Amino acid sequence: MVGFLDLLFPKRCVNCGRLGGYLCRECFSKIEYVDKPVCPVCQRQAVGGKTHPGCQRPYGLDGLVVAARYRGAVKRAIAKVKYKWAYDIGNLLVDLLVASLWKFDLSKDVILVPVPLHRRREKWRGFNQSRILAKSLAKKFGVDLRDVLIRTRETQSQVGLKRDERKKNVKGAFALRQAGQKKRRSFDFVASRRNFAQDKIIAGVIGENIILVDDVYTSGATINECAKVLKKAGAKSVWAMAVALG
Ligand SMILES: [Zn+2]
Ligand SMILES: [Zn+2]
Repeated sequence: MVGFLDLLFPKRCVNCGRLGGYLCRECFSKIEYVDKPVCPVCQRQAVGGKTHPGCQRPYGLDGLVVAARYRGAVKRAIAKVKYKWAYDIGNLLVDLLVASLWKFDLSKDVILVPVPLHRRREKWRGFNQSRILAKSLAKKFGVDLRDVLIRTRETQSQVGLKRDERKKNVKGAFALRQAGQKKRRSFDFVASRRNFAQDKIIAGVIGENIILVDDVYTSGATINECAKVLKKAGAKSVWAMAVALG
């Protein structure tokens, strides 16, 4: 059915520009799925997406969930929602992930944590696309979303950087969220309140099976840096989940 808004703002396919919907049937049929799960470290085939025993590192990722290759319509759709969130396209990306989940050996009891943007970047952009993805996924699975991470410094874009440069670029760029400091009444009051809230954030990580959510997984440098912070804080397992494998 064509609604009034569709007449005012006709929907076009993100990939080829054809009128009718955000992704036409033809472009949808050309999406390249990641048929066989891969290891987050070596990106070779791995049963259920679990990190190969030989690829495991201290504080490293335990597995990777990805739906499609970062090409064609999927690449265009991700680029589109990065700068202006569009719910229809976002839902399409979420559906790609949800449809792929059966291939992965995920634990039932998980919480989702979005890869954070630096607060200045988020303010400029108006939203964090990874957080919106994580929020929709959390709603679909009926699991918790916890914003326990922050990006402590602004990092250069990873695009065009080599593998070791990517690692260096994001090293130490994430931390557990500091508890918000309330009005300063007395020093002790503020300190105890902060410690209490901080304990709560750490308690939200200890012993948990966490899935870090991002839009694209390329070298994994960013998400690995996040995993390190969560594991050092006591997370039981940390997986990465991204719509596309770059
Ligand atoms: Zn199309
Ligand atoms: Zn491996």
